Amino acid sequence: MHPLDKPGLWAVTAPPPPATAPLSGAHGADVAVVGAGFTGLAAALAAAEAGARVIVLEAAEIGAGGSGRNVGLVNAGLWLMPDDLDRRLARHAQGSSLPALLGDAPAAVWSLIDRHSIDCEARPNGTLHCAPGRAGLAALRERARQWHARGAPVALLSADEARARTGSARFQGALFDPRAGTVQPLAYARGLAHAAIGAGARLHTDTPVTASTRDGGDWVLETPAGQVRAPRVIWATNAYSQAAADQPGRALSVLPFFNFATDPLPATLRAQLLPGGEGGWDSAKILTSFRLDAAGRFIIGSVGALGAADRHVHAAWAARRMAWLFPQLAGQRFVHAWFGRIGTTPDALPRLWQPGPGAFGLWGFNGRGIAPGTVLGQALARAALGQDARPPTLQAARPDRLRHARGAALRGGAALWHLADRRR
Ligand SMILES: Cc1cc2nc3c(=O)[nH]c(=O)nc-3n(C[C@H](O)[C@H](O)[C@H](O)COP(=O)(O)OP(=O)(O)OC[C@H]3O[C@@H](n4cnc5c(N)ncnc54)[C@H](O)[C@@H]3O)c2cc1C
Repeated sequence: MHPLDKPGLWAVTAPPPPATAPLSGAHGADVAVVGAGFTGLAAALAAAEAGARVIVLEAAEIGAGGSGRNVGLVNAGLWLMPDDLDRRLARHAQGSSLPALLGDAPAAVWSLIDRHSIDCEARPNGTLHCAPGRAGLAALRERARQWHARGAPVALLSADEARARTGSARFQGALFDPRAGTVQPLAYARGLAHAAIGAGARLHTDTPVTASTRDGGDWVLETPAGQVRAPRVIWATNAYSQAAADQPGRALSVLPFFNFATDPLPATLRAQLLPGGEGGWDSAKILTSFRLDAAGRFIIGSVGALGAADRHVHAAWAARRMAWLFPQLAGQRFVHAWFGRIGTTPDALPRLWQPGPGAFGLWGFNGRGIAPGTVLGQALARAALGQDARPPTLQAARPDRLRHARGAALRGGAALWHLADRRR
């Protein structure tokens, strides 16, 4: 593993995880969950609260995947425009409850955080989707129109309002979504793990599931030093799938996304940036995300991996971009850097995998997995326990032969863009 390929800042500032150990020996459960990110942990918590005996098996550690590496923007809906989501769902699932579920998903996150007193820098102060140019503004206007048609309380802000709310004069407008907000993502994942264990779930880290077979009415999950037998299994391994969880690996294109963070800024600078506490990102195709954490560190992110070949390109671009957006930050040094893998699908919709009776997998959040992972994890638990017939209908997972080409094009395109973008 490259030294930069680790959770970065979030691992420095998150409260400790619960004490866990690898699985050893043979065990039985009502529900086995594979993967301890938002999706698996929300599912485990919901199933344990419903009275099921739950065992979570995690290959590495809690939040080791996208859940411990992301920007922390808790958003409603998906990246898709609401009308596009409806249109695409109509092909697979007339009358799907998915749009409503995703629209209310941030509220479900804030409510879990409240109910379980999760210490995760939660700021339900909204997000700002910002338009650096006219095309972006037109797209935001259309997005606002579509959300308003659904009764969503979003507000389109003028350039002056966007400047006041972000501290940057670079935007021609912004879409404010008061349903949304930010969290310290690894702290949220660890908090969910504490809550699931508090509700009776057992959680084993350093425990990759290496094989999965059927025996009688049960699934048998093999791990290096143990085995779990359960009639129901939830696979929540997304873009970090390994070993027996190879199905998502064949269905997802991986889009890397990096973040750089400064030390806590002086109070005078902090007061000029995002004074309302929102998180932000722009409407560019290769987007820039930006936010502060609770201590006032500035965090900027975009598409790309921080491997040996391209980390200098992205680091130099991030410094230029920070100074272009926020000239008052020019010269601030980055002291944290990390990146992660986003699992994308060609139509930007998550995928449902049903390998057999009582087993469900869910992945492909396309970079929007905090709120969707939480509510869809809960929905998977209800489906696994037979409380719902199946999760809100999603397209069935199937291998994508073009995934490597698509992933390489996205990575290469982002590196070229960051190399060529000289604005500052
Ligand atoms: C850099 C970055 C920025 C992002 N920003 C945002 C954002 O601001 N807002 C947002 O909503 N979303 C964002 N996302 C997306 C979001 O982080 C993911 O969609 C979400 O974390 C997915 O959660 P998950 O639980 O499904 O999967 P993950 O968190 O990836 O967890 C999967 C887990 O499964 C484990 N695993 C894999 N194989 C096995 C096995 N065989 N046995 C046992 N365990 C296994 C892995 O170790 C991992 O811990 C971002 C993602 C990245 C990478």
